[in-house]
Amino acid sequence: MSVEQTLSIIKPDGVEKNLIGEICRRFENAGLQIVAARMMHLSKEQAEGFYEVHKERPFYADLVSYMTSGPVFVQVLEGESAIGKNREIMGATNPADADAGTIRKDFAASIEENVVHGSDGPETAAQEIAFFFGDDGLCPRTR
Ligand code: ADP
Ligand code: MG
Repeated sequence: MSVEQTLSIIKPDGVEKNLIGEICRRFENAGLQIVAARMMHLSKEQAEGFYEVHKERPFYADLVSYMTSGPVFVQVLEGESAIGKNREIMGATNPADADAGTIRKDFAASIEENVVHGSDGPETAAQEIAFFFGDDGLCPRTR
């Protein structure tokens, strides 16, 4: 067990459904702390870069179009095992496979429009945090 940081995105469908507060509430209830947050509308280039790992997948173009369809809420969560905890709270990629009580089970419309993104490991977490917040965009919790 160790304190980790992870990147979370509330995707355009989650923002549209006015779920920012509900989703942040779930993270905070699980003991995670928000150490950076930003509302933004991704450009095509930003969405393509962020999801570059999926560029050979058949759903890549649709994914980029979905992620640029409206504003997103990007944040960094910090806490004990934050990466795995965030993934647990999110639920499986496909809401049909997601556990009861997870964000995706409760709110996702489909495997594509699944409300939230979360880093899947320490390396991607570091890369994704740097992608949005650089080296000095985090705000340490001094109390
Ligand atoms: P996760 O977001 O759970 O880490 P992936 O990294 O596999 O899932 O996929 C990234 C995103 O691409 C998903 O969250 C979803 O929005 C979209 N996606 C994944 N698989 C599919 C699919 N089979 N069809 C359409 N969109 C998909
Ligand atoms: Mg992923």
